[in-house]
Amino acid sequence: MSQGQGKGWTDHDVRSLLRTFSGSQIDAANTDNAVGALQPVGADNAAQRLALLDDFEQAGINWIWATDADARLIYMSASAALRMGKACERLVGQPLTSLFEIDSELPGSQSSRPLNFQIAARNRILEQVVRCTAVAGGEAQWWSLTALPKLDAEGNFLGYRGSAKDVTLEYSRKLEDSRAAEFDTLTGLANRHQMNKRLDAYLAAFKAAKRSCACLLLDLDKFKAVNDTMGHPAGDALLKQVAERLTSIVGKRGEIGRLGGDEFQIILPDVDDRGALGELADKIVSIVSQPYPIDGKQAIIGTSIGIGVAPFDGSDRDELVRNVDLALYAAKNGGRGQYRFYSSDLKDDATERAQLLDDLRQALDRDEVDMFYQPVVRTEDNLVVGCEALMRWEHPDRGPVSPGIFIPIAEESSLIQVLGAFALRRACRDAAAWPDSVRVAVNVSAVQFAGNDFLDLVKDVLDESGLAPDRLELELTESVLLGDSVVAGELFRQLKALGVRLALDDFGTGFSSLSYLRSAPFDKIKVDRSFVSSCTLNDKNSLKIIAAIIGLADALGMETTVEGVEAFDQLELVCAKGARYVQGWLYAKAMPCADLIEKLQSGEYSIEPSGPDRYRPGRRSVYRRIGVVHEDHRYEAILRDLSVTGAGIEGLLGVPVGEQLVIDLGKGQLVLGTVTRSDGATFGVEFETRLISDGAGGLCTRHRVSPYALAAAGMPLNALKGNGYTQVLSAPGAHSKPQFLEVSATARAA
Ligand code: C2E
Ligand code: CA
Ligand code: CA
Repeated sequence: MSQGQGKGWTDHDVRSLLRTFSGSQIDAANTDNAVGALQPVGADNAAQRLALLDDFEQAGINWIWATDADARLIYMSASAALRMGKACERLVGQPLTSLFEIDSELPGSQSSRPLNFQIAARNRILEQVVRCTAVAGGEAQWWSLTALPKLDAEGNFLGYRGSAKDVTLEYSRKLEDSRAAEFDTLTGLANRHQMNKRLDAYLAAFKAAKRSCACLLLDLDKFKAVNDTMGHPAGDALLKQVAERLTSIVGKRGEIGRLGGDEFQIILPDVDDRGALGELADKIVSIVSQPYPIDGKQAIIGTSIGIGVAPFDGSDRDELVRNVDLALYAAKNGGRGQYRFYSSDLKDDATERAQLLDDLRQALDRDEVDMFYQPVVRTEDNLVVGCEALMRWEHPDRGPVSPGIFIPIAEESSLIQVLGAFALRRACRDAAAWPDSVRVAVNVSAVQFAGNDFLDLVKDVLDESGLAPDRLELELTESVLLGDSVVAGELFRQLKALGVRLALDDFGTGFSSLSYLRSAPFDKIKVDRSFVSSCTLNDKNSLKIIAAIIGLADALGMETTVEGVEAFDQLELVCAKGARYVQGWLYAKAMPCADLIEKLQSGEYSIEPSGPDRYRPGRRSVYRRIGVVHEDHRYEAILRDLSVTGAGIEGLLGVPVGEQLVIDLGKGQLVLGTVTRSDGATFGVEFETRLISDGAGGLCTRHRVSPYALAAAGMPLNALKGNGYTQVLSAPGAHSKPQFLEVSATARAA
């Protein structure tokens, strides 16, 4: 090897790289030298091993490359550079993303997620086919890249170590074949090429007719696990069944295609109602997540969905698909089994996450992470029977960061193993000091559960802490059941044999499937908070679902805990449906261990419920610049809190109660509202139509004002991107005198 690449390479690197190369060739080389005295290459002989690697590179079986922590190339095999028609020196220092891109037209490509996202997330890259963008003379070339993120002992990212090979011949052929055929031979659905053509045609026609068109992108969760454990024929059978289910859900409303691998696309012409799209996405998530009978076994997968609507989220195919893809990426990151609408904030998401991950790596050492405990109460006598351990992270600059944000980020890297072990260890140690009648429940991420050493960790932690196994309850989500159910079943059995209890968390969201409850040995089901928060809000189904879950659990001899009870009306309803254990703010929020121990001093701890009589949907505190339109005048104001039914706004003096206003939440989202309270420069508004969930814990309007409508008011389409919407609304003649005084807010809107 030439100089310059040596730094950072360890024995481990070389071995893991060699392992990622095509094994067959290496085996062949090993068995060839049958005659003569054997002269093995010493594992500790660096020079011999380098020479071996040198031969390997020169043989052209595979090329080798490496990057620094900023994903800039620090090494590439000379023969690889030669293939690109470039000198090595010209490539070194270039960002990986300026040399390669993922080709969205590629059939059967592993993933069409942009390369920069995979890199920002420090994902491992496995046989990812990429188009080389830096080839001298512009010749089309495709390479297959494989690489692992390299971490130092502290877990800091040092860069990628990877291999590459030229696959141009195979792929140009595949590309031709797939273009020729319109349908995916496996599922009979339209293929990528055909879907692109259809989407182009819709968008072009709809632009002229000022109609909207929705696009959904689906990516299956845990499909790879099924493929790997049950075999490719099983994977194929599963994809066929997914295609059938999708067809039965979507029917004649839209077009479905399989883009390759486990990616599906749905085009829905004339749909712009995000409420309806959210419902459809929910339905798809729950139906795709039902178990699949394959060869007498059962496989469970999930799906994540990204959603965008033309013309709001893009008016041509490239823009729309790129944005829907961002939404899908965000849905995947937000925990599996979710949908997400595209929003322009998603663009900064990847960098933001990479930053948080870096900070989180150091958080444990810096003592920023702690465990808090939220009591679970028996409703008949208000006695605390257990506590759920919830992780808390106090970020030095950002303040408290919600586990709902940082846990999914940690799950994308090996860090979740470290955090998970910390949680389990700390919780068991803490609980060992509580009275025997109080259990501790610890959340276990599906990623952690799937790791090799989870069982050993539980054994160790129980030994160390001396906690009686039946006082430890592991809270698992339905996603641990994804993939091959036999593997999960074995681990359940071993955990039960240790004597620990198992609880099924967040039941009813995402992957709900009643059928696996029969075989999985759960001691408890936790009814998800989302059912409780909607059960008092005219949502008859939520209450029925709660009742059904409690009834089912009773029949199967399992306990239930109802989560997220915040008000007396909710408590009454769930108790009437048979809830015996409740966890929620009406009893207590999560508290530090020291506070809990103080309350447990007398040996027993009972809590009188206390809180509001009636549940009001949580107003979230926000701080965002918005517009308020009154008559034909537009004002700037600050949104301070937002709920499904109304908002608190600051920045206008003397807005009378009863006045009708249009609130401009940005990007074409307008809501009509009535002022219900007014005090100085702040006032409250009740919306005429409810907002809906954006799939990510935020809120959005069902419909948006079409940029076409605004264009009709005299605005060129390209001025409508981003903030264009807002400017437009201020445009239609401000003829009358403003009636309210704008007062500038003290702080700056974020
Ligand atoms: P979860 O397992 O569903 O935990 C319950 C969440 O509901 C907690 O949020 C809790 O503070 C909140 N909660 C409880 N009662 C109420 C209520 O009456 N009203 C409302 N609005 N919320 C209530 P938290 O602590 O933010 O945790 C969020 C999620 O992060 C957890 O959801 C869990 O999935 C994850 N998580 C937290 N700690 C850990 C951990 O140590 N390991 C793992 N793997 N995940 C964790
Ligand atoms: Ca939980
Ligand atoms: Ca939960």
